[in-house]
Amino acid sequence: MRNWDRSRELFEDASRYIPGGVNSPARAFGSVPMHPVFMERGRGAYMYDVDGNGYIDYVLSWGPLVLGHAHRDVVAAIQSRARLGTGFGTPTELETELARTIIDAIPSVEQVRLVNSGTEATMSALRLARAYTGRERIVKFDGCYHGHVDPLLIKAGSGALTHGEPTSPGVPDAVAATTRSCPYNDIEAIEALFAAEGEQIAAVIVEPVAGNMGCIPPQPGFLEALRSVTERHGALLIFDEVMSGFRVAWGGAQILYGVTPDLTCLGKVIGGGLPVGAFGGKREIMQLLSPAGAVYQAGTLSGNPLAVVAGHETLAALSEPGVYEQLSERSERLSWGILRAAENAGVPIYATQVGSMFTTFFSEQPVTDLTSAQACDTERFGRFFVELLRRGVYIAPSQFESGFLSTAHGEGEIEQTVAAAEEAFRAL
Ligand SMILES: *Cc1c(COP(=O)(O)O)cnc(C)c1O
Repeated sequence: MRNWDRSRELFEDASRYIPGGVNSPARAFGSVPMHPVFMERGRGAYMYDVDGNGYIDYVLSWGPLVLGHAHRDVVAAIQSRARLGTGFGTPTELETELARTIIDAIPSVEQVRLVNSGTEATMSALRLARAYTGRERIVKFDGCYHGHVDPLLIKAGSGALTHGEPTSPGVPDAVAATTRSCPYNDIEAIEALFAAEGEQIAAVIVEPVAGNMGCIPPQPGFLEALRSVTERHGALLIFDEVMSGFRVAWGGAQILYGVTPDLTCLGKVIGGGLPVGAFGGKREIMQLLSPAGAVYQAGTLSGNPLAVVAGHETLAALSEPGVYEQLSERSERLSWGILRAAENAGVPIYATQVGSMFTTFFSEQPVTDLTSAQACDTERFGRFFVELLRRGVYIAPSQFESGFLSTAHGEGEIEQTVAAAEEAFRAL
């Protein structure tokens, strides 16, 4: 039997100095009957906690570690770069290289600017869209999460959903009033909204594969409908690919589904585990950014050499032939394995998977939007989480998060996980 004594002590100590004991709410075990586990180190598909327990990791730092923990080439690149200095506050050649790689991979991105997080990327993309269109309103979708940007914390997913505050206090009413939120995958709702107030809408921002209410794929025609309605009304379409970018496919969901947005937000994978975000799109729009144009956006550490080199090395490994095919194939095998394990144990679940994103929903019905996600048995999910943890498998501590696979997860880890899942289902 595992024990987590040291983690419990560290959590009690952390809670004295840090609100809730964590520096990001999703790390709290708000919806599972346990305190958070403190990790110490990771290697490949595994991470190890302060009590010496090992886990097969399906959180992967919430998505960035697509090559697994402490990948040899990424670590070596960071080390050799650090010896040359950790930053200069001047341009470096590395930034152009990362920008070029992103632009080559994503045809809709003609120019790109690097920032430090996904939140910065979406915040800046909204400002740019508003400046470009001269309009103020923003449309998002219920249960999508776009970082902790004021106008986007309306019916938000991820930690905001898990901890029961999808619409955050502290967001000024005047700001909230500029946001509209529609049900995900609901074409009629978005068409009706545009029919009523299309001339005031600056942009629609969407996760092209929703990942912050669990993994929910776009239904056929949904992304195409967003493209068409925004075009007809002169609004911009922003794909928030902070999670899906370079994860569901080389480039991202827009390559997988063949729908072209005006602006794209990136983060997570493109930083290889270090803090990087990016937003880019049509040159004509990007040229509005200061100092080329008048829309202000800046960052002391933007394009930091250590972060950029980690991202660059990660993308280099991902560009090898066959990487995404293998990631998808293994993720599909895992997803099917978990579904079969649940059937064997007589537990009804609904499994989703797109590329190396997947979720096990405790639902008898298909999960296609926030309403169907919220109908899941979250209490049962919490017990499943702890049963998996006891068996050395670490998934996100919330029903409303996606799981991730890395290239370091082999057949052995998948078999072990499916076996652990079947035991966990039986123990519920
Ligand atoms: C994680 C995430 C963000 C926020 O990124 P941070 O780096 O945490 O600020 C934004 N959008 C989506 C889709 C995300 O998954």
